[in-house]
Amino acid sequence: MFLKRLPLGSMQTNCYILADEDTKECAIFDPSAEADRIMSVVEENGFDVKYIILTHVHADHVMALDKVKRLTGADIVAHRCDAEMLNDNGYTLSGLFFTSAPQSKADVVAEDGDTLTIGNLEFRFIHTPGHTLGGMCILCGDTLISGDTLFAGSVGRTDFPGGDHKKLIDSIKDKLMVLDDDINVYPGHGPSTTIGYERENNPYLERL
Ligand SMILES: [Zn+2]
Ligand SMILES: [Zn+2]
Repeated sequence: MFLKRLPLGSMQTNCYILADEDTKECAIFDPSAEADRIMSVVEENGFDVKYIILTHVHADHVMALDKVKRLTGADIVAHRCDAEMLNDNGYTLSGLFFTSAPQSKADVVAEDGDTLTIGNLEFRFIHTPGHTLGGMCILCGDTLISGDTLFAGSVGRTDFPGGDHKKLIDSIKDKLMVLDDDINVYPGHGPSTTIGYERENNPYLERL
């Protein structure tokens, strides 16, 4: 599997490009900003973008969404609860980033447990509310894209619309800490980690 992390925009929000190297089919996770840099990775590798998958719809994760959608024609995938808010300036915190909410709509509305495939890769959507209402993590083999739910040594903020700290911790405890220790975690900000490392060391999960 091909996996590339691109920290983009003023928040250095991680955009991930995952592809099946046999078929060249590709998914872009969180087209956070700088569409040209995302597209240059796609073009250099000859990838065929099938899906643009959103961990959640905060502006720092979707600033390049409209442009990447226009250039690839790929289906946009979001959890139902965030899909409904994708075009809402307040919920997406677009004002904070001096931008406006995307105009694109979700083409595929995901629910907890749904799967999608590209080439030989299967993505499973795990609804992890708490940072937003429709936050989700995406599991593909031993790779977990965790958005702003779980970071290396930290967890997501819960002081934005739809945020709820207890729900976030419950999501992590019930839906992520049941995964194997050797699952690699790729967060929306900062470096990657593993489920096992976070289970032992994340101060927010101490009593789990
Ligand atoms: Zn966020
Ligand atoms: Zn973020």
